[in-house]
Amino acid sequence: MSVYGHVAIGAALGTLAPDPAVALALGVAAHVPADLVSHYDLSRRVELFMAAAALILYTWLGGFALTTALGAVGGALPDVEHLVRGREAKKYFPSHSRLLRHGGPRGRWDVLVQLGVAAVMAGWVVWAPALW
Ligand SMILES: [Zn+2]
Repeated sequence: MSVYGHVAIGAALGTLAPDPAVALALGVAAHVPADLVSHYDLSRRVELFMAAAALILYTWLGGFALTTALGAVGGALPDVEHLVRGREAKKYFPSHSRLLRHGGPRGRWDVLVQLGVAAVMAGWVVWAPALW
């Protein structure tokens, strides 16, 4: 999953969290299954731009609730390892190391799938909190 997708899923989970620490943990935990799904990776520059834009967007969509924002941050946090250590270096996060098998590459059409997931998560962030 591209980083903006992790941000979107983390933000959605953050709306369910009772406190900021749980929101952050849920975002980080959700990173693992999302990484295991095959996906198309954007260039590093585009990934960074989209991730930053998504962090701002989902925080705004969530009404600046700390749990939503920290869920989004938690979703993106594991991929900081790619920035710090580089693509080819040994990684430690379970879905980046050899502990779990990272999803293989997909074609460019997968960008539409990931944008669809991000849109559903945006709807969740906006409307789901009104349900409870
Ligand atoms: Zn990752």
